[in-house]
Amino acid sequence: MMPMMTPTDATPNTSAPDVCREGESLSVPRLSERARRCLQSLKRHAVRPTLQRRMIVAHIFEGCARHFSAERLHAELKDKRHRLSLATVYNTLHLLTRHRWLKEIVLDKEQTLFDSNISRHHHLYNIETQSIEDIAPVPVGTLPPLPPGISLESVEVVLRVRPSQNAERKNNA
Ligand SMILES: [Zn+2]
Repeated sequence: MMPMMTPTDATPNTSAPDVCREGESLSVPRLSERARRCLQSLKRHAVRPTLQRRMIVAHIFEGCARHFSAERLHAELKDKRHRLSLATVYNTLHLLTRHRWLKEIVLDKEQTLFDSNISRHHHLYNIETQSIEDIAPVPVGTLPPLPPGISLESVEVVLRVRPSQNAERKNNA
């Protein structure tokens, strides 16, 4: 499935949160350890833990790490009867990204996802089913030299894939 990547190169990140498996429950009734640490760290950076921010942080970090859009998160919060505007959700997600509690994955100019797994990893994105999954953070080949005065922080790749024609033919048979 991932011909160019060998998991042997991967550096295991023990601090990485568990990644949600499909069908697993996302709701844990109390403020998780990660949510608490996030709010404390924001406070240390003079970011006020407003009620809205607390609601969003609690919701994001209540289960295992996952990928979500601002719209989806907004809908989930609405289902929990949390009344927040989409703009507040967006602003908070960008704030959390700036403070490195989330990562932003730009799939194309219309689609951005947020990732609560902030450990170094790549993504496999199926353009037909629009599903996304984490893959091992293996090194990715030779990179062009960088201009002077800057240093490389990370390389994170989104592999855009689609079901191969053989698989399609099999499914249609
Ligand atoms: Zn991810």
